[in-house]
Amino acid sequence: MFTAFLIKYAEIGVKGKNRHLFEDALVHQIKFAMKKCEGKFLISKSQGRIHVEAQGEFDYDEAVARLKTVFGISGFSPVIYAEDEGFEKLCDTVVGYVTDVYPDRDKTFKVHSRRARKDYPKTSMEINADVGEALLNAYPEMSVDVHEPEIVLNIEIREKIYIYSETIPGPGGMPVGTGGKAMLLLSGGIDSPVAGYMIAKRGVKIDAVYFHAPPYTSERAKTKVMDLAKIVSNYTGPIWLHVINFTDIQLYIHEKCPHEELTIIMRRYMMRIAEQIAKETDCLGLITGESIGQVASQTMSSLVATNEVCTLPVYRPLIGFDKQEIVELAEKIGTFETSILPYEDCCTIFVAKHPVTKPSVNIIRRHEHNLDEQIEELVKTALETKELIII
Ligand code: ATP
Ligand code: MG
Repeated sequence: MFTAFLIKYAEIGVKGKNRHLFEDALVHQIKFAMKKCEGKFLISKSQGRIHVEAQGEFDYDEAVARLKTVFGISGFSPVIYAEDEGFEKLCDTVVGYVTDVYPDRDKTFKVHSRRARKDYPKTSMEINADVGEALLNAYPEMSVDVHEPEIVLNIEIREKIYIYSETIPGPGGMPVGTGGKAMLLLSGGIDSPVAGYMIAKRGVKIDAVYFHAPPYTSERAKTKVMDLAKIVSNYTGPIWLHVINFTDIQLYIHEKCPHEELTIIMRRYMMRIAEQIAKETDCLGLITGESIGQVASQTMSSLVATNEVCTLPVYRPLIGFDKQEIVELAEKIGTFETSILPYEDCCTIFVAKHPVTKPSVNIIRRHEHNLDEQIEELVKTALETKELIII
């Protein structure tokens, strides 16, 4: 019965000349999301509103699910359109709407109408009163409450007449594309896809880098990362996934540096390489799934050591989250099931039995000098042989 959705977005930060940028980005992201839906949709912006109109047959549940992935949408209302065929017909349509949408009609309501077109023969007040009366006649169990009604029946008189009353919550946030771009260090774990989601939610476009270590990490581990990127891209739009072959760098670190510092030194090289790609691709920051104390490489001291090699800001949106909280988010956004598939990822191969938890930056730096002979060349090769997958 519904043929359209009225999109609501939070107005914060959307004042003045940024407003149209925000709206255009939102329209763009909605178009991207709806392209994945069966059916055709017309997405239009008029009078400070965004409408998504189905052109013919469509799958309602799928459309709702897609709109729930678009950051910037605070909520959306399923709408029915009626032709303007006189006021009596309008009353019938509203009664029919209530019949279909509210099987239990023992509820309080108010009618809230607006006229975009002032040539309509009744004022808004008259429409409210007269439609209200028609409803009370049809359903005596309903009652009017203008202060705290359970149902607000919105009627908008435009070219056509729009009727809606329900609001489905959207994901909130800002439309992707309004906040610049950042580079996500995406592993096959639970955390990093959630971290990407959270930064994208603030309007930031995401690209990703994955460090692959064949044959220590399988081709399936890489496919899993691509699958995760695909799920995240449902929210963010297309992701450029850079795959770096990290094997030779890892082996070299393994050969030259103390084993208890392997992870930290490896992480420093990941950050350096990620930053280099980030800078070449206009990213304004790095994103990781780190959370304080989760593992040895994420103690405060370890984070000092990892952070030291970066000049771009490193965004760690999960920094204060417990694992369980991250798992809940992963479930909500749909990445959890894929993240827990058991394929080896590149960190678990080279982990020491007793990694340092309080690394000293000076000592780490000193040990990194053991790599002086070849590391530059290895990093250069890794960057030159990088594979780009557009998700
Ligand atoms: P996740 O944090 O995604 O669950 P993890 O816990 O195995 O994976 P850690 O070893 O804790 O990863 O690494 C912390 C962060 O470093 C990750 O959240 C991710 O941002 C980044 N990272 C780790 N390994 C890789 C990798 N192979 N490729 C890209 N980024 C990685
Ligand atoms: Mg982690």
